[in-house]
Amino acid sequence: METWQKLLQESLTRPGDLTRRFGVDPRPLEEVAARYPMRVNPYYLGLIKEVGDPIWRQAVPAEEELRDAVCPADPLEEENQSPVPNLVHRYPDRVLFLVCSECAMYCRFCTRKRKVGGEEMVIDRASIERGLAYIREHGEIRDVILSGGDPLLLSDERLEWILKELRAIAHVEIIRIGSRVPVVLPQRITAALVRLLRRFHPLYLNTHFNHPDEITELAAKACARLADAGIPLGNQTVLLRGVNDDPVVMKRLMQKLLAIRVKPYYLYQADMVQGTDHFRTSVEEGLEIVRALRGHTSGLGVPAYVIDAPGGGGKIPLLPDYLQSLGEEVVLKNYQGETYRYANPAPALIEEKRSAVNDCR
Ligand SMILES: *Cc1c(COP(=O)(O)O)cnc(C)c1O
Ligand code: SF4
Repeated sequence: METWQKLLQESLTRPGDLTRRFGVDPRPLEEVAARYPMRVNPYYLGLIKEVGDPIWRQAVPAEEELRDAVCPADPLEEENQSPVPNLVHRYPDRVLFLVCSECAMYCRFCTRKRKVGGEEMVIDRASIERGLAYIREHGEIRDVILSGGDPLLLSDERLEWILKELRAIAHVEIIRIGSRVPVVLPQRITAALVRLLRRFHPLYLNTHFNHPDEITELAAKACARLADAGIPLGNQTVLLRGVNDDPVVMKRLMQKLLAIRVKPYYLYQADMVQGTDHFRTSVEEGLEIVRALRGHTSGLGVPAYVIDAPGGGGKIPLLPDYLQSLGEEVVLKNYQGETYRYANPAPALIEEKRSAVNDCR
């Protein structure tokens, strides 16, 4: 058995398992873990410094999960946008393909909390075959995002089969893998896995770091292996109360990601998912954090801040109001809050200039 498989097997799955280590009363948490599964593998457990810290909050069940009376179970209406089970076709040219129901750690804030690690999320070979058939039949799909659960918890053999089948479809231009494994179980990024993945380029991997303490030596090594194999790495962070809702923490996270060759891609406003209301921050706080990044650190380290619209409307970008007014003159505020003006060519003028250029030819 490989190290990562052993670590998974040694995961704590009952709140009672935490008592010995941290002296917390597990009783109120047992009901929570019965509803939403818990899995804290020894690697991620080792990152916890104290009860209630940002690592703890992401991994350990909290009583609030059962007290959420605000949020729906499937706010993004993924089930309504699934033409076949476990495949979400929301955008014209790309699909989200759920190929694994398990994760290396069950994040308490998960968007698919309603089903990951549970019995309703059945993903077997037959359901993957149906998804593949759908992609084959839809010539407009040029981008396939493997997700779950976590696709990298599949065996190398199963993953190779899926990637081979996808690569055999001429209209699939790029493949993306969404995986939290580099963060929560970096031991899974074995040399053999990376040798396998690199055969299916162009292949991208988006991972999911939420806090600078998650960027350990092992996580850095896992990302280096992937990057050395020519796999462009992106990161999706969820803005979480008590974890990273602080401009200083967020800036450090983005800078550390760049240092391990991971490009911050999205910063998500927390979805309205049942059992996660206690993690949500206001949008004003999110905009404040983005304002504290832009201009103040490398532009490469500034992710797009988005709300994944409830109702299945897709990701909608949010920007602090740098644009003060837009007319013949564009009035702008820079990152230091100073005002600048830009003379805006009228659309009609641009048309005139264009034809003038054409006349000269
Ligand atoms: C996020 C998402 C995608 C990918 O969106 P990009 O902006 O291209 O990264 C595709 N399908 C669904 C259903 C998604 O939620
Ligand atoms: S790894 Fe992703 S899918 Fe799995 S529990 Fe965490 S957020 Fe959800």
